[in-house]
Amino acid sequence: MLDKQEQPVEQEFLSDLKRSIEIQDEENRRLPSKTFKPSGMKCMRSMYYQVIGAEPDKENSSYIGVGICNAGSDIHERIQTAISQMKDSGMQCEYIDVGEYVRDRNLTEIQIVSNQGMETKLYHERLNMSFLCDGIVRYKGKYYIVELKTETVNKFWSRKEVAQEHYNQATAYSLALGIDDVIFIYICRDNLDMKSFMFHVTDEMRAKLVAFINECQEYIDMETEPPIPKEASAKFCQYCSYKSICKGV
Ligand code: SF4
Repeated sequence: MLDKQEQPVEQEFLSDLKRSIEIQDEENRRLPSKTFKPSGMKCMRSMYYQVIGAEPDKENSSYIGVGICNAGSDIHERIQTAISQMKDSGMQCEYIDVGEYVRDRNLTEIQIVSNQGMETKLYHERLNMSFLCDGIVRYKGKYYIVELKTETVNKFWSRKEVAQEHYNQATAYSLALGIDDVIFIYICRDNLDMKSFMFHVTDEMRAKLVAFINECQEYIDMETEPPIPKEASAKFCQYCSYKSICKGV
């Protein structure tokens, strides 16, 4: 007979495993760097908080959240490897080393910060923007930025175009790397099926994004929070780490 408080050993083992994943995640958490991030260019107010180094909300780690995040990174790496092997399979596709591309094109505003697996961390000095690029390919003689996104099965099956929340991210990459076309590959988390969409970035879109970043920088210089955007809602703010300080929703 087990004591009331006691769990069978396999249950206890699993509880400890889950808790250990969460402890490790909490211990490895770092404040984001005080730079603009293409993936966070949806809300100027949250960009402001990040660049001034505001304390993000304390959220308890969840082993499921950690698992989803790690699975996404693993899938990314496998797809990147598969893209890099297309040439060996006889396709007209070359996976371009992002660091070499930056050096060859003499993109002097960009610093190569580090290589993380197949991703290259870059920093754009003028815009104070740091970013990881999933990859650049030369496919059938033309250069494209490749951006990979994993998503839930429901989102995947209804996907018919690039998600609006990814427009600024693609535009930021285009702005920094001087490539007009971004191939988005959306990957279903459940069965790893894939869909692709082309996103063409125009001069007007790049100019609009620069103006958006510059406006945010003006608020930073004035030490004044940008106003709460009219789009603010439970859905819009769902993944924001600055809800407590913002009080927008
Ligand atoms: S809570 Fe919403 S409005 Fe406030 S900073 Fe976050 S995303 Fe922006």
